[in-house]
Amino acid sequence: MKILMVASEVAPFVRTGGLADVVTALSKVLDKQGHEVKIVLPRYYVINREQLELLEGPMGVPLGFQEVWTAVYKSRIPESNVSVYFIDHEQSYGREGIYGSSTEPDYADNPLRYSLLCHSAFQLCRKLDWFPDVIHAHDWQGALAAILPKYTRQDSKFNKTATVFTVHNMGYQGVYGKHCFPHTGISWEYFYAAGFEDWDRMNFLKAGLVSADVVTTVSPTYAKEIQTPEYGFRMDGVLRFRSDTVRGILNGIDKDSWNPAKDKFIPAKYSVKTLEKKAENKKALQEAMGLPVTDKVPLIGIISRLTDQKGVAELFGPSYGCVPRICNDMKVQFAVLGQGERWCENELRVLSSNLPNLKASIKYDEKLSHLIEAGSDFYLMPSRYEPCGLNQMYSLLYGTLPIVHKTGGLNDTVENYNEETGEGTGFVLDMLSPQSVYDTVGWAVFAWYNKKDHIRKMQERGMKKDFSWERAGKEYEKVYEQALKIHNK
Ligand code: ADP
Repeated sequence: MKILMVASEVAPFVRTGGLADVVTALSKVLDKQGHEVKIVLPRYYVINREQLELLEGPMGVPLGFQEVWTAVYKSRIPESNVSVYFIDHEQSYGREGIYGSSTEPDYADNPLRYSLLCHSAFQLCRKLDWFPDVIHAHDWQGALAAILPKYTRQDSKFNKTATVFTVHNMGYQGVYGKHCFPHTGISWEYFYAAGFEDWDRMNFLKAGLVSADVVTTVSPTYAKEIQTPEYGFRMDGVLRFRSDTVRGILNGIDKDSWNPAKDKFIPAKYSVKTLEKKAENKKALQEAMGLPVTDKVPLIGIISRLTDQKGVAELFGPSYGCVPRICNDMKVQFAVLGQGERWCENELRVLSSNLPNLKASIKYDEKLSHLIEAGSDFYLMPSRYEPCGLNQMYSLLYGTLPIVHKTGGLNDTVENYNEETGEGTGFVLDMLSPQSVYDTVGWAVFAWYNKKDHIRKMQERGMKKDFSWERAGKEYEKVYEQALKIHNK
């Protein structure tokens, strides 16, 4: 199959979050499975032109009322045959930020910038005389690539091209004033039909959900949850309308970077057979964080963006968060790594200096994140919602038992402990509240002190899990086939 990915981030070229890793890992695995994959991405300022190859000739892109002249650069995803094409347009992408800056968090011309990306994708195919079977668009920035074939006149060579639209987080929709609509190049008569209309504004994500042949998201549970008012971010109605074409595919993880047997960031490598070596990492972690060094107390790790989505209010909210109470009432230690909302960073600094058994590091630190996964006994991740989540999967593979809220990808990856039989791979709380986090942590800590055999078996079970991209790649293949069938019926 010929597959064209349209995305706003691709690792290792530009990355602000998980999207970049997903696009790259998925493209690589599809390439390995024998598909021909190309990716289109803006040539942001941070991507050094000197490392890229310039394609011959400028490329004119029709964009609403204007024609925009771009240059196209090319590179490759390392260790693969996946080509990446970079759309170069000084006026749109020649600035420091990706989506915005500190003074303008969301650039006012983002509708134009990403309309340009999506229109360029089609123009590029013509330039290369290469026409995909499937266009796979990611998030609102790529959505237009799944909409244009239906509502604009394109080359007949795109007639059979099916579209798949993947939403990585419903919280980001690309909602702008209607005056931006002409940039899409779509006629006003389709403003409603294509799904753009959103309370008299325009919504890219909504139009993608309405127009794509198949919609996917990044875990089966999240695919169901977003069809409910509680998790749908106002899109639940649209998604229910399309429910027979909404699929959830769990992301894989990068086994080369996240593998306790060969992790270059941790002092003691280990596997299921040498699990006792994990204790050395615990010691190293306690030393690194400034916690008392002891193996007699369970250590709970947290690595997180400090935002409401991650349940930080329930954990650290002044006066009602449960973590200070846990630290006072239970014999445990906490190692916290994160950055994000200012109030939460400040609260963590205060807790860190007041509590002997909690230490927080307010920064982004890849090395420390690996040490926390390897050295902790438990990993606490009570996200309010979680499209997929990575850290709970890393935790399972590192023999670090996750304590999670029953939502999204957390629900699909962690099986709750059964204290009768010892089954399960972690501890799951049904409803998110400070008290339920307190109780579930208490339950886990009790098991750590009193049910050592159960804990050990759960660790072993988690470490044997398969979260490979190969599995995800196979599922995406099926989705592409379904999209082709729907499109060409
Ligand atoms: P999200 O993408 O919603 O932030 P995920 O669990 O899907 O959550 O992925 C987050 C990734 O970012 C994980 O790999 C996690 O280890 C990493 N991460 C988050 N915060 C930090 C931090 N402060 N330092 C190092 N890594 C971090």
